[in-house]
Amino acid sequence: MSALAERLAGIQERIHAAARSAGRDPSSIRLVAVSKKMDAAKVREAYEAGQRLFGENYAQELAAKADALSDLPDIAWHFIGHLQSNKARLVAPRAKAVHTIDGIGLGRELARRAEAAGRAPLDVLIEVNVGGEPQKHGIVASELADLLAQLRELPSLSVRGLMTMPPEGDPEAARTVFETLASLRNLHGGPAVLPELSMGMSGDFELAIAAGATLVRVGSAIFGPRS
Ligand SMILES: *Cc1c(COP(=O)(O)O)cnc(C)c1O
Repeated sequence: MSALAERLAGIQERIHAAARSAGRDPSSIRLVAVSKKMDAAKVREAYEAGQRLFGENYAQELAAKADALSDLPDIAWHFIGHLQSNKARLVAPRAKAVHTIDGIGLGRELARRAEAAGRAPLDVLIEVNVGGEPQKHGIVASELADLLAQLRELPSLSVRGLMTMPPEGDPEAARTVFETLASLRNLHGGPAVLPELSMGMSGDFELAIAAGATLVRVGSAIFGPRS
C-alpha cells in the first residue's frame, strides 16, 4: 500500500469509529478528499486507492484538474471554496455539488450555467457563518430562511444542506459551531429537507461527526501538508 493509500484507509477507519461511537451508520458519512494545491497525479493516486469524491477551493484549479482527470469515469468534484459569480461558468459544468452558496446572485448564476452545461439540477449547500465572524464568508443564520426560499425557486439547483467553517484551533468552539449548524438544519425542515451537513476538517472531523456531519472535508490528513 502507498503511504497515501494508508492515510486514506486510516481516515476511513476513524470516520467509522466516530460514527459508531455516535450511534450513527458509517455509510451516512461521505469523505470529501480536499485536494487543493495537490497536483492531478496525487488525485489520481488517491482515486486508485479507492477515493472517488474530491473537494477543491479554487475555480481554475478545479477546472484544470477535472479536465486532466476526465478519463476517470466516476470521479466526482465538490466545490468548497469561496466562489465569485463570474467563476460559476468554470465550476457548474464540472462539479457535482457546490458547498458555499452565500447569496442569491451566485445561486442564479450557477443555475444558469448548470442548465446551459446540461448538468442541472446542480446540488448546492448554503454556507453559514455560524459564529458571525466578520472575516468569514457565508450568510448569518437570520438570512437562512429567505435564501432557502429564493434558491428553491430555481429548478436548476437542488438545495441539499448546510456547510460551515468553525474557528481554527479551538475544539470547544468548533463543537458549538457544529451543534449550532445541526440545530439550524432542524429549524429549517430537518434532515428530510436538508439531508447534508458539510462540516469537519482534518483537525476536527470526529467532533463534526458526533454533531451530525454527513460530508467531512479532509485535506492535509490525507495528502500531507500544503506548501
Ligand atoms: C482546505 C479546506 C479543508 C481541508 O482542510 P484540512 O485542514 O487540510 O483538512 C476543508 N474545507 C475547506 C473549506 C477548506 O478550505
